[in-house]
Amino acid sequence: MSDVKREMQDARQCVEAAGALIKQSIGWIKKQAAGDKGLSNDKLDQHQLASFDLSWCAAEATAARFALEYAERAAAVADATLEAQMARVFCAEAVLNIRNRLIARPQNFGLEDAEVMALFAADISRFCQTQLDANALSALGTRVADGASSAYLLSDDAMMMQDAFRRVATNVVMPLAEKIHREDQIIPKEILQPLTEMGCFGLSIPERYGGIQSNDHEDNMGMIVVTEELSRGSLGGAGSLITRPEILSRALLKGGTEEQRQKWLPRLAAAEPLCAVAVTEPDAGSDVAAMRLKAVKCEGGWMLNGVKTWCTMAGKAGVLLVLARSNPDPSLGHKGLSMFLVEKDSYDGHDFEFKQTTGKIQGGVLTGRAISTVGYRGMHSYEVFFDNIFVPDDNLVGGPAGEGKGFYFTMAGFAGGRIQTAARAIGVMQAAFERALSYSKERKAFGKPIGDYQLTLVKLARMATLLTVSRQFTYAVGRLMDQGGGQMEASMVKLFTCRTAEWLTREAMQIHGGMGYAEESPVSRYFLDARVLSIFEGAEETLALKVIARSLIEAA
Ligand SMILES: Cc1cc2nc3c(=O)[nH]c(=O)nc-3n(C[C@H](O)[C@H](O)[C@H](O)COP(=O)(O)OP(=O)(O)OC[C@H]3O[C@@H](n4cnc5c(N)ncnc54)[C@H](O)[C@@H]3O)c2cc1C
Repeated sequence: MSDVKREMQDARQCVEAAGALIKQSIGWIKKQAAGDKGLSNDKLDQHQLASFDLSWCAAEATAARFALEYAERAAAVADATLEAQMARVFCAEAVLNIRNRLIARPQNFGLEDAEVMALFAADISRFCQTQLDANALSALGTRVADGASSAYLLSDDAMMMQDAFRRVATNVVMPLAEKIHREDQIIPKEILQPLTEMGCFGLSIPERYGGIQSNDHEDNMGMIVVTEELSRGSLGGAGSLITRPEILSRALLKGGTEEQRQKWLPRLAAAEPLCAVAVTEPDAGSDVAAMRLKAVKCEGGWMLNGVKTWCTMAGKAGVLLVLARSNPDPSLGHKGLSMFLVEKDSYDGHDFEFKQTTGKIQGGVLTGRAISTVGYRGMHSYEVFFDNIFVPDDNLVGGPAGEGKGFYFTMAGFAGGRIQTAARAIGVMQAAFERALSYSKERKAFGKPIGDYQLTLVKLARMATLLTVSRQFTYAVGRLMDQGGGQMEASMVKLFTCRTAEWLTREAMQIHGGMGYAEESPVSRYFLDARVLSIFEGAEETLALKVIARSLIEAA
């Protein structure tokens, strides 16, 4: 067996050893959290720290498995020593992270010290030490600095999309990105128009409804690649544009009536109108089931009253997807929620007031106030006040049968939002990495470029490795989703890539020294933009506890 093959086999064994402990611990927590009727939420909450850590362990172990699979696929088409080294380096780091979490408090994972010590066995330690050796890492950094880059392994169709959207991101988005950020502008038509013409808003919409996705299966890869490229140009100025139509079209495909799909999907695909998602409220964000905005039945429709917050793009949008409480009985919880489509005029400013002057019932007022943010600028995120807003019966998603099902439609939409957010994280990381690499070659300190120093080379090696692993993890989950699966993995990849983007943009900023902190350096924007990724589309903690850990425990 060649050395490379042996090392890859060692990597696999290390990851599987870690995976076995994770599985054992999840089984233990399941027993602790068992109640009279299945899992007890209160009991589960007593294991939050372990559950959170286990979600991270499981996400890293899954990323490591996909990294190894990727290295194998790469080796099948070309010389793939770079991909193989990156996969091994990642496996070594993942195993160290996992064992460190478990050894900190084995008792909380239902493990004996000796069981966790299995991850400290001589062969595992030797594998990690070899992969993470300073000389090995700086040699990897030198390859990366000399221009070696890992293969994307995309289909021809996906590569064509990548190429087209990369050009728009470089030529159209990037030159405008700084101005949008520093002046807190709304995305200009110079960006919106070409993206609309290229079919960007119809990426998740089947052809039969006017989109560019196949009629018979999902095509997440197209959406992922386009999002990645546009986010490289600007997260707020382009890369996040598809999130809202992605969520709304998935919700309509899941729960809309055929008439609603026929009416809305072609319009969303053409960005006529743009849309926004109004789920979060001032007193309820992660806890979607606690939403309070009231929808009361009236003649011919529903009357909406209350407040939504953080509704991104609410001004520019011509339609808002609104989750509202259509049944006041508090005991119904999430079953009392319905989803409505609220039509309005489009506004560019930081404030808007829309008065309902047409339709069956008039006089309703919708007002919006943009919340100042440190990053993610370009779309404005608003607090929106609903004062007697009338919504016709036709705009209750799912029709009468959809009443009380809004929570489920929202969750269907959010599943797409998660994989899309992972793609956004990759785009931001790619932009930050490119800047860090070029600056490390230009900037001299103590007589030579900072990129010639071992420490910088190791930073570049780790950045390139985490970027490659994040990208391939996202692609692998996209492929799983295309086949109808991958829901849990979509949450894992969101969790993993968003935190990784924070670290990577921080390192890119650090490599720039003082200039990294200057507003005029794009890396300061990448850092601020990356920070929001772990907050929205499922805050890190809630995603880890309520989605990943819970699903793992239920499945154990
Ligand atoms: C820039 C931006 C744009 C946004 N755009 C939109 C949008 O377009 N539409 C929309 O509807 N929303 C949007 N949001 C809102 C976003 O989805 C929410 O901020 C997010 O869901 C978290 O909700 P919250 O802010 O109410 O935090 P909370 O739910 O109050 O959570 C606060 C903290 O507590 C943690 N936490 C919550 N529950 C638990 C628990 N059980 N155990 C332990 N920890 C817990 C959370 O993880 C978080 O760290 C946006 C937010 C931002 C910042």
